[in-house]
Amino acid sequence: MPDPAVDRQVDQVSSNGALDQSKKIDVQQVLRQFFLSGRKKDVQVEIQSLSGLNSIYKTRLLGVNKMRTDFPIIMPEKKSLHVVPLHQFIDDINSELSGDDEETAELKHYLLLIEGAIREKYFKKSADLKDGWKKAVKSVVSASRTEKSKKENLQKSLTSLFKKYGFSGELVGFHPEVIQRIFSRIYAKQTAKRAGDFLQNTKDLLQNITDILTSEFEKSDAAKTPGQLRSRLADDEFKLDTFSGMMAHIGDLSLSEKRIARLELVKEKLTQLVTTIESGEMAVSIELQTGLKHYEAELRKFIAYFRARQIAQLEIKNSYKPEKHDPFFEKFDLVNIPVHEQVFISPAIIYLKQDKLDAECLAEIARLAEADAPVKIIIEIEKPLEPGKSSYELMQISSSANRLLRTLLGENRAFVSQISISDLKGMKNGFKKGLQHNGPAIWGVFVGEKKNSVDRYVEVMSATHGRVSPVFTADPAKGSWAHKFCLKHNENFEQKWTQSATSFRNENEEVSEVTGLYTVFDYLSDQPEFDSHCIAVELSKLTDSFVPMDTFISEKCSADSIPYVVKYDKYGHEFAVVISQFLINVGQKLTQNWQALQELAGINNSHVLAQMSIEQEKLEKALQQKEADLEQAYQAKLDSALGSLADEIVGNIAAGLLGQAASPVSTPAPAAPATAPSETPSAESAKIAEPETTEEAEEDDAMSFDEAYIDTPLCTSCNECVQRNSMIFAYDGNKQAIIKDAAAGPFRDIVEAAEKCPVKIIHPGKPLHPDEDGLEDLIKRADVFN
Ligand code: SF4
Repeated sequence: MPDPAVDRQVDQVSSNGALDQSKKIDVQQVLRQFFLSGRKKDVQVEIQSLSGLNSIYKTRLLGVNKMRTDFPIIMPEKKSLHVVPLHQFIDDINSELSGDDEETAELKHYLLLIEGAIREKYFKKSADLKDGWKKAVKSVVSASRTEKSKKENLQKSLTSLFKKYGFSGELVGFHPEVIQRIFSRIYAKQTAKRAGDFLQNTKDLLQNITDILTSEFEKSDAAKTPGQLRSRLADDEFKLDTFSGMMAHIGDLSLSEKRIARLELVKEKLTQLVTTIESGEMAVSIELQTGLKHYEAELRKFIAYFRARQIAQLEIKNSYKPEKHDPFFEKFDLVNIPVHEQVFISPAIIYLKQDKLDAECLAEIARLAEADAPVKIIIEIEKPLEPGKSSYELMQISSSANRLLRTLLGENRAFVSQISISDLKGMKNGFKKGLQHNGPAIWGVFVGEKKNSVDRYVEVMSATHGRVSPVFTADPAKGSWAHKFCLKHNENFEQKWTQSATSFRNENEEVSEVTGLYTVFDYLSDQPEFDSHCIAVELSKLTDSFVPMDTFISEKCSADSIPYVVKYDKYGHEFAVVISQFLINVGQKLTQNWQALQELAGINNSHVLAQMSIEQEKLEKALQQKEADLEQAYQAKLDSALGSLADEIVGNIAAGLLGQAASPVSTPAPAAPATAPSETPSAESAKIAEPETTEEAEEDDAMSFDEAYIDTPLCTSCNECVQRNSMIFAYDGNKQAIIKDAAAGPFRDIVEAAEKCPVKIIHPGKPLHPDEDGLEDLIKRADVFN
């Protein structure tokens, strides 16, 4: 039964126009109920349909097949060439075009149009590169508004550009199939690179064994048949050298049949090993158990290859002793292969789709990682979120594949990488590093759900950008976390959220630019499966109690606060989407996952922050102490200086009263020229203590700023100034520094002494030698201390 009170609110809100504050408060109460209960069906205020509303980032991605993304990629036929994104191929050609003339500029412009035409046509599907180029040239040229003869020239120029810089290859669209194709390329390259000397050594062994067998064959009757002789002497010409070489071997057979059979077998196995390494071919299994069984069979083959290598080494040295070596090689197994050679054994390569990851499979992968098994497993992840079904699992939001990757990351045994199919460079890097790792490697590649390529791409980018499926790589062989863990392929990886920008064109064709953060909450509210947890309302209906989501989760808001995210319709009109408490909890959990990854990467690391705070506190205390010590020392010196000054004044007054000449009073600091003795005693003498009242004293003060002086009572006798120039500086009777003669040395010495003085009490005044070098700079430096 609808609540009549709520009905009233519906009427009020439906009436459109500006809402007064009380009506807004009614809406707020209804939305609060929804926020807490998550029951959308109970909400009875006018709400905006969620369809057609998108977050800022998703809006930006809607025209993705027109943006310079990595897809389609170019897969060259020649395996030695790199797989590159289309835009790189175009940029490479562009950089080859030199010249500032109009023709070159026009060609560069058309190159970009070709890129756009290829992307639009082949973002979703694959095609021959040359065909794709040809079709793009045709469509771009026919769409150009130039005269016919110019079009023909343009077509020729663009076609010849491909002839010059293009190659045989394939345009491959955005589809999960690309993963295995890229992986196999990298695998072949890595295998060849890793094999290096090992492959050459195996080839040498094979050549030596072949030579022994050839030599032995030439001694046999079979080698003397007319057919054999003819084949080795060549067809037409009789070659004496060859014939002489052959005859030299003719004689009794020297090898036993058993040895020949052994050598033949060794030759066969070494040939297979060389072919396996050179081809770089890999066998991929799409079931874990099948893959492991296949690996067992492959392992047996490799054991036979390595057995052949060891036999070959003995045979070449002619030191194979059947009685000793036969029993050893009969039981030859993995343990007999040196560890540094075991790395050449092909690993088990398994490609699993997310739906294959049942509990048994997850446990088995964890066990293989723990056991350092030679497995390389790629998991194709369609959905990064898999809300649990039972009530206690409700908050288990990450998919089992993502949870597996996080668990393996924590266990720190296997190479682990979470990558995104939309990022070609990240994918290539992740595969390369994992294949270089001598041990288990597990990659989770987020591919998005089965939809059309554009929607799939938007989904993958949003989840990565929104920190729901961030990319990372962890290589346990690299030592500390600072070296082995990499998060930097995420945009703004040091920030909590990413920043997005897009533009809208409203109904009046006016364009507006919008920027904002893209958070996990924006991502969640973009997912249709969570529509029942989201309610959109016009921003104008909100009161101050509504706060943006990021503020809501990061600050202490009042209990009345209701969080919202902002979405836009196609014209750029803003709407607030209030999401339920349940979805906020989900988002917070995902935020924690992201922050945990940031901590591993050393960003906002709680241990570091805690330590920094302790160190800062220590530093502050030490500074306070130093300040207090200096103040105390200054006060003590000042007291002592004032004491002696008072004594002098009293002495002078007394002398004046007694009719004696008063001695000049020296002020404690600055060491300005002594005041001239008063001509009259008594009252006149007393005026000496009030220098500011006389014209003469004012003049003296002015002079004191021009002359160098030292706050002598504060001198710590560190020796810095005296040591620098003992003609200018000297110690007084208390072993405290004074200016002995400022003119006795360069101004530079006084300025540098002032800079070095630990208690900063030297005041350099003005230079006395106008011809001294660099005076301008020295005066500036001196001013700091005057
Ligand atoms: S450098 Fe400063 S503290 Fe050291 S002796 Fe000279 S005036 Fe005194």
